[in-house]
Amino acid sequence: MNQIRNIVILTGAGVSAESGIDTFRDGGGLWEKHRVEDVATPEAFARDPELVLRFYDMRREAIQTRQPNAAHHALARLDAEWRGELLIVTQNVDDLHERAGASRVLHMHGEHLNAWCTACDVRSPWTGPLLDRPPCPECGEAALRPDVVWFGEMPYGMEEIFAALRDADLFVSIGTSGAVYPAAGFVRNARDLGAATLELNLEPSQGTGWFDEARHGPATEVVPAWVDELLARQ
Ligand SMILES: [Zn+2]
Repeated sequence: MNQIRNIVILTGAGVSAESGIDTFRDGGGLWEKHRVEDVATPEAFARDPELVLRFYDMRREAIQTRQPNAAHHALARLDAEWRGELLIVTQNVDDLHERAGASRVLHMHGEHLNAWCTACDVRSPWTGPLLDRPPCPECGEAALRPDVVWFGEMPYGMEEIFAALRDADLFVSIGTSGAVYPAAGFVRNARDLGAATLELNLEPSQGTGWFDEARHGPATEVVPAWVDELLARQ
């Protein structure tokens, strides 16, 4: 492999699964007994805000009881020790990358531990419930919603992500299904722009064929092994 300096890593649900965080994909389209279209779309929020807020209050509470696993810790070590550019683009809305110590993290689908005020557009750190319609810390309006990108909404940070992909020597996809765009298209962008590509996933994903190399196994095993290898070559 050529000299690697700039790395973009995309992480998905497979990284947090071994920390006990499930997604709607685990339950055959159901998420904690809810259909995705009933809790994770702007239309659902307009139709039944209490159901949606209660659902996210439950998720927000649950993730605070979970702990980062060996995959999060390995990526945090890479973040700390890698001397080139690095961007961890995560589809996960938990804060386990940060709690493991990583700082170069971009949450393209938002964060459970933020509330977004639809009145003043300010995002505030948030750990408690939203169901009781608390006032926005910034403007005082009772207009907070989960700061999570719902189906049908635009992911965050796309310009920054594509800028990083343009400069990347290596693109690594970890624990993602390869099914949800635009993230599923990153590997093709990276390839077109000349980066080497690697998939680390529990099993071959829908996009496996697009990668130069794929390694399959639990994230807590394949990710630390890959990070060790990469740092040894630095
Ligand atoms: Zn506000």
